[in-house]
Amino acid sequence: MPTPETLLKSVFGFDAFRPGQEEIVSAIEAGRNVLAIMPTGGGKSLCYQLPALAREGVTLVVSPLIALMRDQVAGLREAGVEAGALTSANTPQDNERIFEAIDRGALKLLYLAPERLASSRQLLARLPISLLAIDEAHCVSQWGHDFRPDYLRIGELRAALGNVQTAAFTATADEETRAEILRRLFDHDDAPLTDDVGGGGEDPAAPAVFLRGFDRPNLYLAFEAKASPRKQLMDFVLPRKGRSGIVYAGSRNKCEVLATALRAEGLDALPYHAGLDAETRSHTQDRFSREDGMVICATVAFGMGVDKPDIRFVAHADLPKSVESYYQEIGRAGRDGAPADTFTLYGVEDIKLRRLQIDESQAPEERKRADHQRLNALLALAEAPGCRRQTLLAYFGEARPQPCGNCDLCRKPPELFDGAVAAQKALSAIYRTGERFGVEHVVDVLLGKPNERGERLGHDRLSVFGIGKEFDRNAWRAILRQLLALGLAAVDGQTGGWRLTEDARPVLRGEKGLQLRKDALKARGAAKDDRR
Ligand code: ADP
Ligand code: ZN
Repeated sequence: MPTPETLLKSVFGFDAFRPGQEEIVSAIEAGRNVLAIMPTGGGKSLCYQLPALAREGVTLVVSPLIALMRDQVAGLREAGVEAGALTSANTPQDNERIFEAIDRGALKLLYLAPERLASSRQLLARLPISLLAIDEAHCVSQWGHDFRPDYLRIGELRAALGNVQTAAFTATADEETRAEILRRLFDHDDAPLTDDVGGGGEDPAAPAVFLRGFDRPNLYLAFEAKASPRKQLMDFVLPRKGRSGIVYAGSRNKCEVLATALRAEGLDALPYHAGLDAETRSHTQDRFSREDGMVICATVAFGMGVDKPDIRFVAHADLPKSVESYYQEIGRAGRDGAPADTFTLYGVEDIKLRRLQIDESQAPEERKRADHQRLNALLALAEAPGCRRQTLLAYFGEARPQPCGNCDLCRKPPELFDGAVAAQKALSAIYRTGERFGVEHVVDVLLGKPNERGERLGHDRLSVFGIGKEFDRNAWRAILRQLLALGLAAVDGQTGGWRLTEDARPVLRGEKGLQLRKDALKARGAAKDDRR
């Protein structure tokens, strides 16, 4: 059977786990019963879908929300997974498809509405159910306002299925509800074992409860826009000489180049990427795990199997793939709970390259759109005007009332300025030039710098030509990047051309103001990517 990691990519198209997912999936894989408390939108479904696909038999999912079940079944079927939902809203055809899949032994996930629990008992007893997943598990709690009497039957069902391994999920974390869920779902002492079809008798393992928030308060978070990227990276890594760290880079070649550069500075650095033979890789990984003070310059290929508690820093020489990848990669630092530093470089070229990769991939349109959105979320984090940890956790659905005090933006709050006029100029320049030119051309127009193509197209005669002389080239790049991050502009993956989004209109018309970061304007030097 394929591993959850490979399924994450091959079936769902995700590059990385979200916070909590990996731990929960591992516990389920290890055979534990699980109660996981995750915020809404945190990515609960994947926690039982992955184990479902990674094992034999059928995973039964009890969920009270019919619309949600239907969405999930449709999504799974689209991804090539046989799934079905038994609900009161089913048509005979719906049911037929499910029974047919059962007969073929192809059904992987069966969603069940709680009101069908009692009537489905016979059918369920015939199925090779290997995992029971319970969504919205707080519905068993009589104290909660979401109480569903049908949920009380889950304990019985579980007993009838031979205390099959069970994973329960809820977003409600209060202690009383939690205790009640544990008692009702996992303590089967007073639940009648009516028709025990399983091995029977033995006590199920005590459930593993996942309640931790996703915050990793010991990690310092920092981003910098690329100005002179090599120097910026060295300024972060060299003072940390003698400590264990990972430098993630976007290409194999760059891993090699960076490792060589760090060795030249006297650091114990080695490259790690899929282009190296297996022996070299495992030797490198071994040394890194056992020894102190090594730096690995790696592609994302590095990290899955690394369980070193005292990694003191993680740097990204290039923008990670998504917020999920970012979180997972920085999360390798400071597992021991001691302070660790993270540092991420990002540039316009990174973003363009990523857009191109997404557009040129074989993925279906819908997934590409989702990938673009995920990239936008990462940019918004990179260019966040306030506390980075708050922005990061909010993305995963976890509210954090106070700024963290342990990120670059908390330590040095960015100066904001009224960016409405600058935004209007930049957006107008994109619009007037026909919404198909790249960032450099748009900046040429703003600065009033003639270029050959522009002259041919008459861009030097447009009213926007030269309206942005108050800022320099780097400042305009940074402004455009923030507009991209704010979702006011979008880049065509094929042509690299910038266009406006719907959200740009109120800003252009002066109906909506916006605050931009001032510090981004001060970035000096060639804002070029050093990718080779
Ligand atoms: P909930 O916890 O509310 O049930 P879902 O399981 O519906 O949340 O997931 C919320 C969203 O997050 C979905 O759009 C899902 O596709 C997305 N998602 C879940 N896991 C990941 C991941 N590892 N990487 C990227 N997106 C993810
Ligand atoms: Zn902060």
